[in-house]
Amino acid sequence: MSLRNLSDERLIADTKMWNEKEEYCTRQFLRHINEVNRRRLFCDSGTGSLFKYIRKNFNKSDSETSRRILAAKTLRHIPSADKALAKKQVTLTNLAEVSNLVGNIKSNKKKNEILESIKGKTQNQTREMVDELTGKKRATRSKTHTHSDGSLRIHLTLLGQTAKDYEFIKEQISNKGQYQPEKIIGHAIKTAAESMRRKIVGIGSRKSKTITNSRTISAAIKKAVIARLGNKCENCGSKYNLHFDHIVPHSISKSSAIGNVRQLCSNCNARAAIVALSQQKMDLFINQS
Ligand SMILES: [Zn+2]
Repeated sequence: MSLRNLSDERLIADTKMWNEKEEYCTRQFLRHINEVNRRRLFCDSGTGSLFKYIRKNFNKSDSETSRRILAAKTLRHIPSADKALAKKQVTLTNLAEVSNLVGNIKSNKKKNEILESIKGKTQNQTREMVDELTGKKRATRSKTHTHSDGSLRIHLTLLGQTAKDYEFIKEQISNKGQYQPEKIIGHAIKTAAESMRRKIVGIGSRKSKTITNSRTISAAIKKAVIARLGNKCENCGSKYNLHFDHIVPHSISKSSAIGNVRQLCSNCNARAAIVALSQQKMDLFINQS
């Protein structure tokens, strides 16, 4: 039916109705992505994060996706926020703004106080309130641009102690006429990367052993696993939060040989444990914050 044939009253009433339906659907969407997240179901389709899963499957932009994920997180922490959202006392954006704050608070009373304090507030007012409560200065967002030759251009803001440390290094080397920002940043990145690589393969770890029936996965096996498929999650390809995992649980297989070891990101690792051991059991161990 063409909308041109609707009466003025009906057009206004229908517009209101569709807006309410849209809001209802958004709230249902938040509830559903929370449950998908609890089960780490997104790992089954090879997407190692809820963010990638929503981006890939639901045609939403980066900002729409992160706003929904953050608002859903607030709903997990403050169930009554769903009612406030239905009553239009808070917006999706407000709920997203306070998600990290409420995620770090244990007291339900305090969480509910935060919900009360953001009712009727704009995004900026909510953001200011969060900054005041956390005592944090908001860093301007770092921007990264990749050039065609693979080099990166990064605009970044250093805060607090990091800025002081940077100035200290600058002072020390500028006397010798060596001051080049990319050298300082380059050195810091190199040191951090080396330390992470050492951690991943367990180099220098006293616990690492070469025997393969121990639960501990030896440095040699870790290296071999990385050489086999690269330093990434074997399920989704993520390069973050990686863990070495026994394919058949060590309690059953008694084997830490290369054929029984893989690398998974924390989400795919959690999903594998849920499938192997049940959701109920893993709810006790998997961090849902
Ligand atoms: Zn993964």
